[in-house]
Amino acid sequence: MSWAKKKGKKRENRLYLTRVVPLSLETWLPVFDAPMLAATKIWNSCVWHSREARENGEKYPTESELKEKFKSYESWKQLHSQSAQAVVEEYFEAVRSYAKHKDNGHEEMRPPGFKPKTTLRTITWKRQGFEYRDGRLTLKLSRKLDDIEVPLPEGFDTLELPDGTVLKGVPVEVKVKAVYRKNKVAGLELHVTWDFGVVPLVLAGKVSAYDLNSPLVARASTEGTQQLIVCRELLALVQYRNKVIAEFQQKMSHLKEGSRKWKALLAAKRDKLKKLDRRIKHLTNALTKLMAELDRAEDITFSVLGDLTDIRRKARTGDKNKKANQKINQLPYAQIEQQHSYKSLLRQVCPDKASEKYSSQTCSHCGARNKSYRVHRGLWRCNNCGAIMHADLNGANGILKNYLFGRCDMGQVLKLKPPEVYRWDKRFNRFVKVSPRAAA
Ligand SMILES: [Zn+2]
Repeated sequence: MSWAKKKGKKRENRLYLTRVVPLSLETWLPVFDAPMLAATKIWNSCVWHSREARENGEKYPTESELKEKFKSYESWKQLHSQSAQAVVEEYFEAVRSYAKHKDNGHEEMRPPGFKPKTTLRTITWKRQGFEYRDGRLTLKLSRKLDDIEVPLPEGFDTLELPDGTVLKGVPVEVKVKAVYRKNKVAGLELHVTWDFGVVPLVLAGKVSAYDLNSPLVARASTEGTQQLIVCRELLALVQYRNKVIAEFQQKMSHLKEGSRKWKALLAAKRDKLKKLDRRIKHLTNALTKLMAELDRAEDITFSVLGDLTDIRRKARTGDKNKKANQKINQLPYAQIEQQHSYKSLLRQVCPDKASEKYSSQTCSHCGARNKSYRVHRGLWRCNNCGAIMHADLNGANGILKNYLFGRCDMGQVLKLKPPEVYRWDKRFNRFVKVSPRAAA
């Protein structure tokens, strides 16, 4: 069966991708060294002025006040004005993030501080700070200094879609970053973010829907197929991450803020979280890849994620429903959503979201709504029509139905096929199909 996109609900399927090229240290370090050090100086000036204000009991300087003040500084004159401003903006971003964490009870957080003078700070070039023509990027510094010309690898600005359409990208932001290993500069990287425009999609066709529960992701499609993806490893990592944070917080709360021991713990915590985050990202990437491949194999047009936003908001605003809390604490939804979105677009599948309100308590077969039909986590038994199925697949089928027909008590119109089960395989480092019994 097919489905045409509803009118009125506009979603722009613009594809942004950041591509990275390494820059050889020999050639490029002498070029970027001075401006990167200048950026570090600007950062440190931000810190200095904020501290000064605090120590003198004065009002903190605002973003625009600092920008105005720094205009006459030597370091400011080494960068393009937008790049210099970006440093100040990043500083204030860091301050806001610090304040937010502090408000949330992360007492161990420190305000953004001074960086060693020799640190090579990332430089950002915004639209007016660079030009791009025929595979060559021209990065501007201040008016008095020469521009920097960087050749890009062939095909860096193009992207071929599955239907053969070749999209040409427009660069929207450029960054040069230093990669540090063991406190030493190990390399430089050029990050170019391309706007590939709106991906051409045929907005009529088959639909798939995903119910993101933990530890299962359930999928249903208008082809009648049903899949369960077991994400126990991902869940375990997320839970372990929470535990690590709690443990460090506990230990650090006994120490004097800023003491040597305290600093050592903070460094250890950052290190540990960085490694964990990398593994979590690896798994979410594998998951979203599998989702995209399942969609591609069925020639899906709309790939719909059950939207948890409502449920999350509810949990935040004091509804201390334990189940809801459990749910929100689990799979890294924002990360999965972002990866799902661009991976779908790359395959010319339209990513979308649909409310999953009530889908977990409504029978996808007959439309009867009754919480108690969810006998336990994994089992849905409808007393109205007698349907017995996996509760998460019932949820996914419910989201699919809501997306197609809106919330209604209509019966199931699709002919459902038996569920398939995927689970993570450590040996192959990817999800593999297993016998359905494995999901139990
Ligand atoms: Zn039923």
